[in-house]
Amino acid sequence: MLERNRYERLFIGGEWVAPLDGAIVETTDPATGQPWATVAFGGPGDIDRAVAAAREAFEGPWRRMPGWERAVLLRRFADLYERRAGDMAVLESRDTGRPIRETRPDLGAHHRWYHWFASLADKLDGRTIPIDPSVHAYTERRPVGVVGAITPWNAPMLTTAWKVGPALAAGCTVVLKPAEQTPVTAFELARIVEEAGLPPGVLNVVPGLGHSTGAHLVAHPGVDKIAFTGEGRTAQEILRSGAATLKRFSFELGGKSPHIIFEDADFDQAMNAATSSAWVVCGQSCALGSRVLVQRSIYDRVVEAFQRRAARVRVGMPLDEATHMGPQAHAEQLDKTLSYIAIGQAEGATLAAGGRRLDQGQLAGGYFVEPTVFAGVDNRMRIAREEIFGPVASLIPFADEDEAVSIANDTRYGLTAGLWTRDTGRAHRVAGRIDAGMVWVNTYRYIRWSTPYGGVKASGWGRENGVEALDNYLDTRTTIVSTSGQFPDIYAQ
Ligand code: NAD
Repeated sequence: MLERNRYERLFIGGEWVAPLDGAIVETTDPATGQPWATVAFGGPGDIDRAVAAAREAFEGPWRRMPGWERAVLLRRFADLYERRAGDMAVLESRDTGRPIRETRPDLGAHHRWYHWFASLADKLDGRTIPIDPSVHAYTERRPVGVVGAITPWNAPMLTTAWKVGPALAAGCTVVLKPAEQTPVTAFELARIVEEAGLPPGVLNVVPGLGHSTGAHLVAHPGVDKIAFTGEGRTAQEILRSGAATLKRFSFELGGKSPHIIFEDADFDQAMNAATSSAWVVCGQSCALGSRVLVQRSIYDRVVEAFQRRAARVRVGMPLDEATHMGPQAHAEQLDKTLSYIAIGQAEGATLAAGGRRLDQGQLAGGYFVEPTVFAGVDNRMRIAREEIFGPVASLIPFADEDEAVSIANDTRYGLTAGLWTRDTGRAHRVAGRIDAGMVWVNTYRYIRWSTPYGGVKASGWGRENGVEALDNYLDTRTTIVSTSGQFPDIYAQ
């Protein structure tokens, strides 16, 4: 008999409750294609309950609690998270298909996000504004209220930490709606919240379908802000349905990031970064260096290096310690990745490595794809313009700095970019000309709690991480106090 993990209650107002319409669904292990957990899905009525609980917690203990007290609770939560990270990594590997080699260090670091945001909870300073002695003007930073956090399936707990950490530190309360494909770790997060003793309703977890449960959260008049990570098309729908209530939005969306390799780069280091950042997270990362821009003089060497490394990638079961790359996270993404591989071939790009589904032996039934490399890619091709979200690298040649920058910026996206050169002047020059929210020089995918992250153009609005993340969850209130108490009677004459 198949083992089933059971998560059949929603977490609302500090209680574990059955969904109002009783919906219990099976989620699929992408490595086997078989169900592995049963999960409660909430509907609109459950969202109503969760928003009411979050509002009560916001008006009650949470926003009134001194920042340092919120920090103490958040640190307790962070410590428990750290202790549970190993188990959570296993669950996230099963839910998403990411190899344990990736999820263990990834989940093992999340507590640092929570600790760091905890440390900001009592530093939400306003400022005084000097005008003249007749007034004392000052600002205060106040939490925006109830936050709807909507997260994607590729990195469920990381994208959650980026929202829940700053939101709770700011004094907001949260209704978390994880992606329907990967809800399991969110239930574990709720258990940690409960154990840490956060007041009931401060964080509520209601998994469910995007177009019903998610959409209801977005349209809900009791929600003050939506923090969303996912696809641009979904963000457009969210904007439309959230317009009636004029709530605030922050969006972390897709990318088609350029990773530029100049001929003077440290070749081996650049190849380490370029190959891993094209295939990491089974190719399902928003920050993927999916467009590898290579100076012509080293282009053939780079193609060969990609081919050699593709052959070394061990695709396998996510919980096997030896596995480098797991399956695509769900069947739809598998189809999408395979269809783009076909599109690339039809467009005339050269399939230099990979390209096939792997479904033999132990991998039968799972959603596995080979790490794939296209050479001879022109930036006008669809495989260079559209986000595939699979392990597909497109190698695009360029002649010089100007052409590299022009290809790098010739995209609707602007999330991240990387460049490799030993020339310090060129590093700063090129970095300064790239339209992206994050540029890495001689490194890639370096992300920390304290470094702002987010996109320009179609890659999003706002920043997560860094002190800037708090701006998503705080409003500024200005108070002006007259020092004289005198007010002229303008109708006297
Ligand atoms: P998605 O937009 O399909 O789903 C994201 C979330 O939105 C899910 O929880 C889903 O249930 C919900 N949703 C769907 N329709 C909704 C609606 N109408 N109203 C409210 N909620 C709705 O995205 P995905 O496929 O889960 O994630 C992949 C995308 O996320 C990629 O484009 C990727 O680049 C992006 N991403 C971006 C970042 C970043 O930090 N910029 C990080 C991770 C992923």
